[in-house]
Amino acid sequence: MFCAIVGGSDSNAKIVYRDQQVTAFLPLMPATRGHTLVVPNRHVADLTDITELESRQLGAAIRRTARAVRAAVSPEGMNIIQSTGDVATQTVPHVHFHIVPRWADDRMVLSWPTEAAEDDAAQAETLVLVRSLLPKSTDDVSPDDRRQHLSFIQAIVTRMSQASSSSKTWLLPIITLTYGYAVTKEQFWVAVLGMLAVFVFGLLDANYLKQERAFRKLYDKVASGGDIPTFSLNPSLAGPAGSRVNYWPDWEDIRSWAVAPVYAPLILVGVAIAVWAHCT
Ligand SMILES: [Zn+2]
Repeated sequence: MFCAIVGGSDSNAKIVYRDQQVTAFLPLMPATRGHTLVVPNRHVADLTDITELESRQLGAAIRRTARAVRAAVSPEGMNIIQSTGDVATQTVPHVHFHIVPRWADDRMVLSWPTEAAEDDAAQAETLVLVRSLLPKSTDDVSPDDRRQHLSFIQAIVTRMSQASSSSKTWLLPIITLTYGYAVTKEQFWVAVLGMLAVFVFGLLDANYLKQERAFRKLYDKVASGGDIPTFSLNPSLAGPAGSRVNYWPDWEDIRSWAVAPVYAPLILVGVAIAVWAHCT
């Protein structure tokens, strides 16, 4: 019956609001003046089965509709009621939230027990149990958001590897110039200058590599549903708790195939030229 309203096949439906995920409408039998229902468009009976996106849209629609209803009928108070299951008085098997404007003299009857259902000790056990079963915040991130997050990280990884290869490209003419000059003019200090350039570029490259590695780790963690806040681009979160990714390359980065085998021979050549220039 709610599906007919949501789908637009009920010509008598009193639609208040409708978007891609959610519809708000007035019920056949309003409990109070301004009583409004907010439902997900998809047919789902149990509140706990709605998706992250639906729950966000529902939350936003309830807030917006409640404000409009309050502005329209000026109640003294308001109840937002959701019931799941027969025992909880759910009569229509399609998730719905009641927005019920309240007045001191209205006909609504809501009664809460006056005694606690569990004592402090039992409640403490319940607390521990519920907390342990609570999904990590990212477990219910929508697939679209996760894909988007991954593509942001992928873009950084790509940029890091491009920066690494361009640092190699920049170094080449510098070396040719300094080492070439040192050899032809037998200049010791120019050879040292060339070696310094190799060292600096090597360090830079190793750092790019380190960042790339850190972001790859972040990517893996997000892809595997790890506990990373949605859209966070902080690579430190993928490491051990409390760790931070700084800009000093680790030994692991320096000895990697992209760094040591490229820069170490260049340093050695520089040393050879410097020694030769010094001795002649
Ligand atoms: Zn339905």
